[in-house]
Amino acid sequence: MPKKNLEVSLIAMPSNLLDVIYTACRTCYSADGAVEIFKNITDDKEKKLALIKRIISSGHYSTIEHIQLTFAINNISRAATHQLVRHRHMSFSQKSQRYVKEADFDFVMPVAIEKNPELEEKFIKHMEATSKLYAEFVDAGIKKEDARSILPNATASSIVTSLNLRELIHLANLRLCTRAQLEIRMAVAKMCALVIKEEPWLAEHLVPKCERLGYCDEDNSCGRKPTKNG
Ligand SMILES: Cc1cc2nc3c(=O)[nH]c(=O)nc-3n(C[C@H](O)[C@H](O)[C@H](O)COP(=O)(O)OP(=O)(O)OC[C@H]3O[C@@H](n4cnc5c(N)ncnc54)[C@H](O)[C@@H]3O)c2cc1C
Repeated sequence: MPKKNLEVSLIAMPSNLLDVIYTACRTCYSADGAVEIFKNITDDKEKKLALIKRIISSGHYSTIEHIQLTFAINNISRAATHQLVRHRHMSFSQKSQRYVKEADFDFVMPVAIEKNPELEEKFIKHMEATSKLYAEFVDAGIKKEDARSILPNATASSIVTSLNLRELIHLANLRLCTRAQLEIRMAVAKMCALVIKEEPWLAEHLVPKCERLGYCDEDNSCGRKPTKNG
């Protein structure tokens, strides 16, 4: 039952992302039909980007909802996936603990515990003891769906998630904030980095919310930006 590290892969993203957003933007303000706008689209990338940036900065976010992104994520704890699935504009398909036997389950160790060798050892012993107990329950005829009740939040999971670009920006704004737990922050940072690699202009949007607001609205600020009241 090995300790595992997070893996994130961007498995689907439209190759004509700029064309789709540009068509959506221009359709709102042009006498031409959407079909003609798309057919006669400019090759001038800077022109497309200039319009798209202007529209996004004016808060016209429906234009970026047309862009759907899909990620495959391995070795993320059940604690972190529970946080991820709270986002209601995301779609999920997650490894089932009802159908997949979790004997010798992989686990994700929080960095804070990993840094302390004494606690790390205790953590691993607890995982091993839980794994044995789980096997005992399953061997005694308890269904996996009931035996899983004893599994820890650290159990590694596997999930496919899809979301549109507007939701990715929202997710980044909330989950890149230092108030978010480190594991989900790392997962969302990896998701954003993969998208930014393909579309570098999105870097200014895939940021913690304080970068977008210009101030911190949290009670306990990390100090990156001044708080709302100065
Ligand atoms: C640092 C941090 C700490 C947290 N702590 C806790 C906690 O202690 N307990 C807890 O239960 N949760 C906690 N959460 C989860 C949080 O309350 C949200 O459930 C989660 O972040 C999803 O955010 P969201 O609703 O904005 O996003 P999404 O569900 O992704 O929705 C995006 C946006 O769509 C709109 N929207 C979606 N659904 C509705 C709706 N039904 N009605 C109106 N508008 C809607 C809203 O504008 C929303 O912001 C925490 C989150 C963070 C980032």
